[in-house]
Amino acid sequence: MSDPRTFHFQLPRDGRPPHSPLDERAHPDFHWLTSHRARSRRRDVFEVIDTVVVHATAGFATAHAIDAWKTRQASAHWVIPDEDEAAHGRFVWATVGEAKAAYHVANAVDPVPHLGAGPDVNSRSLGIELVNAQGVNGTQDPYSDWQVLACARIVLYAWAKYPNLRHVISHAKLDPGRRTDPGPGFPWERFTAMVLSHSALPPGVEAPEPPERRAMPPVEQEGNCCGP
Ligand SMILES: [Zn+2]
Repeated sequence: MSDPRTFHFQLPRDGRPPHSPLDERAHPDFHWLTSHRARSRRRDVFEVIDTVVVHATAGFATAHAIDAWKTRQASAHWVIPDEDEAAHGRFVWATVGEAKAAYHVANAVDPVPHLGAGPDVNSRSLGIELVNAQGVNGTQDPYSDWQVLACARIVLYAWAKYPNLRHVISHAKLDPGRRTDPGPGFPWERFTAMVLSHSALPPGVEAPEPPERRAMPPVEQEGNCCGP
C-alpha cells in the first residue's frame, strides 16, 4: 500500500511507443456525454495534452459512474470496467471524445506545481476512471490485473498519439484535500513499470509501415481529386 497523494511519474521524451492501438468501444452515452459533459479545450488538442489523470469511481459498476455524470457536471474520457462486468477483460469504454476537455478535476486545482506552466488541468489532460469501490461502506475491492493493464494501455495509446504527453498523475496528488483516488490499493509502481517498459503494449504490435507509393498515370482532367 502506498500513498495515492504521491502517485506521479513522467514520460521520457525519447521513450514514446511508435504505435499503440487501444481496444475501446464507444459507450452508448458517448455522444451525449461528449456534447453535455465536456467543453472545448480552447487550444489545439495535439499541442495542449500533456497529462493523464488516473481516477477511481467509488462505485461498483460503469453504470454507476455514468448515472452520476448525468446528474452533475462530471465526466472522464474512459471508464475501465470492474471484474463482474461483461466488458471486463475485453475492452474499455470511451465515454468522452478526446478532442474535448472532460470535467474530471476541479477548476480550482492549480496545475502549475505539478505539471508546470499551462492551462487548467481539464484543458490539458485526459481522464481515466477505474471502476473500483474505493472502500465505500467498508468494501474491499482489489484492482484486477486486467484493470491495471488496461489503464497502462490507455497511457501507452495516448503517449504514442500526443507528442507533448509528459505527466501521469493521480487525482489524489492533484487535489489532496478533497480526493484520495485511485486509493492506496492501486499498484502504482507496477503500473508505472508497465508503461515505461512498454510491457503493457498489446501483443503483436509493431510500428506501422508507411503507406505504399506507386506511380500514378498522368491525370488528364483536373477536379477528380481530393482537395477542398
Ligand atoms: Zn477522481
